[in-house]
Amino acid sequence: MRDDKCIFCKIIAGEIPSNTIYEDDDFKAMLDIDPATKGHTLIIPKNHYANLMELDDEAASKALLVAKKIATKMMGSLGCDGINMAQNNGIVAGQTVNHFHIHLIPRYKNDKDKTICGWSHQSFTADEMAEIKNTLSF
Ligand code: 5GP
Ligand code: ZN
Repeated sequence: MRDDKCIFCKIIAGEIPSNTIYEDDDFKAMLDIDPATKGHTLIIPKNHYANLMELDDEAASKALLVAKKIATKMMGSLGCDGINMAQNNGIVAGQTVNHFHIHLIPRYKNDKDKTICGWSHQSFTADEMAEIKNTLSF
């Protein structure tokens, strides 16, 4: 499964170089070309899925195992103090490459930008929260 216009599919195919740190039959992990911090890594499936909702169940399960493996390596080898795992779906959520990917962003006590992966908060009334709960419940 490949999308010929997709930059990550081109990287998977070896048509565009990448700093690959991990590879198996189903996934590749590479350094982000425009890193938020030292070691910022992208985990991408070798098949093209546009986003989380399109990912098949097996790939979804494996993705978290790959993330765990790389996060563990980051903590041990980079000397980072924490890690953000981020995953964007849709333009409004910040997705710029429409090939599912997980960001692993090592965090350091002396990070210049403390807002990476941060967000502000909103208030909802109890009635609104109940309505949201009903809308989202399975
Ligand atoms: P998104 O904003 O879609 O969640 O993340 C896309 C990420 O892909 C960005 O952090 C961006 O820097 C990275 N990126 C875009 N093009 C390339 C590329 O050609 N190579 C690598 N390694 N990363 C890329
Ligand atoms: Zn793709």
